[in-house]
Parts: sequence; C-alpha cells; structure tokens
Amino acid sequence: MSEENLAEMIIKCPACGIEGVAKSIMKELDIPHFGKVLETTILCPKCGFRHSDVIALEQNDPAKYVLEINKNNLSIRVVRSQSATVEIPEIGVKVEPGPKSEGYVTNVEGVLTRFEDAVIKALNLFEDAQSQENAKIALEKIRELKKGNGTATLIMLDPFGQSNIVSEKVEISEIPEEELKQLKTGFYDLNE
Ligand SMILES: [Zn+2]
Repeated sequence: MSEENLAEMIIKCPACGIEGVAKSIMKELDIPHFGKVLETTILCPKCGFRHSDVIALEQNDPAKYVLEINKNNLSIRVVRSQSATVEIPEIGVKVEPGPKSEGYVTNVEGVLTRFEDAVIKALNLFEDAQSQENAKIALEKIRELKKGNGTATLIMLDPFGQSNIVSEKVEISEIPEEELKQLKTGFYDLNE
C-alpha cells in the first residue's frame, strides 16, 4: 500500500472552536486490489479532538462482506468508511455508524484491537455485575482471536459501498432489503 500526502491545513477546531491550532491532513492511499482511498484526519492539540474518515474514490455497490476471522486472515486489509456497520456476532460486538464513528484503513487484527478498546471502555462505563461479566467474556474472546486462537465471523455492511474487505476469501453479497432499512447511516435523521 502506498500513500501520498495531498494537503495539510490549519483549521478551526470543530470541537472546541479555537482558530489556528487544529490540523487537517489529507492523504491518498493506494490499496492493492481495491483502489484509491482519500483519508482525512483532524487533530486538535488544544482539546485533544481527533477524527478520521476515508472515502473510496472508486465507489462500489452497497454490499455485505463476510469473512472468517482465523489465524491466517489477521493481516487482510479492511477499509471501513464512516457509513459501515461492523460486527462479530459470536462475540456480540457491533459498531454502528454515528456522528462520532470513524473511517479507517486497517487489517483484521486492527479491527479486533478497535473492538478490544471499545470493550475496555464499556468495562469502565458500566458497573453492574452482568455488564461486567459480559464485557470480560467478550474481551477474552477478542484477545484469543488476536493471538490466532479460534474463529469467528467478521461482517461489514455498507449501504454506500465505500467499504471493503480486500481478499479473495471474503464473501460479498447484496444487502437484503429488510437489513438495508434497519442500517444506520451515521447521518442525523432531520425528520425526527
Ligand atoms: Zn479543539
């Protein structure tokens, strides 16, 4: 994968509103067997705000990607746009698009690490015994998968076709109508 810095700008921070310190970095990543992706990252040293997103320059059709997570598949490239839902049903973890969700280019192991971080946050957030127990079980399963032990299923659904799991091993299908209706897109519904 090659990358090229396209632009670096100092902008007004979208979080704290302070002028002249937040940096916006735009990069073009060229991902083999997928195409070019525009990655933007905003960093604010003043308030610590950080946000990134990716936009595929060659858009795909809306699709559901299914890949088995196992020790041979940990390094497979994953492009997750802000509009994608990512889940591992066996572990009961799911990330849906929201105003704070990020787009990123990583690999299967990196997706597991993101889930690991989210579960650790949940452990600190929810204090009841049942939530603690569930989070600890999920954390243990995620860590085993990262070590290459066991298998699970990685599912990614993107109604805008901006995401991809770049491998011949991935099963790609259309998103069923019913599922498409229930998907969050990450945009506020102005009618609500
Ligand atoms: Zn800021």
